[in-house]
Amino acid sequence: MSISKETIYEQMGISKEVYGYSEKIWNSLKDRFDEIDHVSEYNQLKVIKAMQKNKVSEACLLGTTGYGYNDLGRDTLEAVYADIFHTQDALVRPQITCGTHALALALMSNLRPGDELLSPVGKPYDTLEEVIGIRPSKGSLKEYGISYSQVDLLQDGGFDLEGIRKAVNDRTRLVTIQRSKGYQTRPTLSVARIGELIRFIKGIKPDVLCMVDNCYGEFTETLEPSDVGADLVVGSLIKNPGGGLAPIGGYLAGKKECIENAAYRLTSPGLGKEVGASLQVLNSFYQGLFLAPSVTSNALKSAVFAANIYENLGFSVVPDGKEDRHDIIQAVTFGNPEGVIAFCQGIQQAAAVDGHVTPEPWDMPGYDSPVIMAAGAFVSGSSIELSADGPIKPPYAVYFQGGLTWQHGKFGIMKSLQKLVDAGIVSLEFDGFTE
Ligand SMILES: *Cc1c(COP(=O)(O)O)cnc(C)c1O
Repeated sequence: MSISKETIYEQMGISKEVYGYSEKIWNSLKDRFDEIDHVSEYNQLKVIKAMQKNKVSEACLLGTTGYGYNDLGRDTLEAVYADIFHTQDALVRPQITCGTHALALALMSNLRPGDELLSPVGKPYDTLEEVIGIRPSKGSLKEYGISYSQVDLLQDGGFDLEGIRKAVNDRTRLVTIQRSKGYQTRPTLSVARIGELIRFIKGIKPDVLCMVDNCYGEFTETLEPSDVGADLVVGSLIKNPGGGLAPIGGYLAGKKECIENAAYRLTSPGLGKEVGASLQVLNSFYQGLFLAPSVTSNALKSAVFAANIYENLGFSVVPDGKEDRHDIIQAVTFGNPEGVIAFCQGIQQAAAVDGHVTPEPWDMPGYDSPVIMAAGAFVSGSSIELSADGPIKPPYAVYFQGGLTWQHGKFGIMKSLQKLVDAGIVSLEFDGFTE
């Protein structure tokens, strides 16, 4: 005989109070979830349409070895990506090791000595600082004589149009626009806003290349930045587009010339896209891409649920419980180390892999404070899977993302809440619940 849902939650360590509160929040989110389902339904069809158009066949799922000449599956997959992003071409490879590598590849192959790179949306993602040479590093763009200029967003999150107009000069060759806020406090850019920004920049200098760091943003809307004028979009396959199945990889989709430059840089001048064996990964790349719209929607639901769970308890959450979503990251500020630690330990306890492990803060290389990370993942480091991390320093915020299934995301957030309740950091006052 089957037991009730409440009972199995209880067996999984969720108290009646946490269960009751969570169900109440969940019930208030039906409209939001419908909107998210609408986007994922649209994107699911977009993906299937591209796969059918390119006649993806069983033979495409097999890989090659050695040089990888005439790799049908690899070449077809790149055509599928190009169709999904509505671009002329794409490069989708296991030889692109991560998101940073994909972005570095895009920049290093499309910029030449004497060119200038411009970021009109403030400081880029941490790991790009060394790629660009903002922090000195071997092999940076700076070492190759490529300069960098940056225009910060205005206080209210708007574009500094005057500042951007001044920053664009004869040498400006490429503009890099980061869609997701990453681990900063600025708002994530919607595709519509990216489109406005690109139109403005092309109005100043029509031949400048506009690249979008698309990490964490793929499939969160029905349009992608390449639908609104981006010449190149770039991302990681262990985030949204890998659908949780890709074990490695990155992608670039864009103008033929940009992709050609990147392929010559990734392999070698003269060889370009013609080499690069796909080994055994194609099956997971295809199936992951097929699942990506749905998996992304699960991560979005988990983020919206987390925002509402903690916002209603009085914590500051970014984005807030009602805002539209343009990426899968959710920040929650606890204001003390105990909250951050309890939250991350709860997420870890919900994991199917390494659920028995207790994460502790540690001094990670490259960080100026201890960091606690929760990650029980099938693919190591994959952040489309349920994961969270928090630097142990003010304002004591955690960044939460992922959830291959909504049910797992929900359980993870409930576990985190249970940990906070058990530690006496949160008490569930139903009177304080705002409808
Ligand atoms: C994750 C991410 C990156 C870097 O990707 P890695 O795979 O961690 O190297 C770059 N930009 C943004 C916005 C990201 O979210």
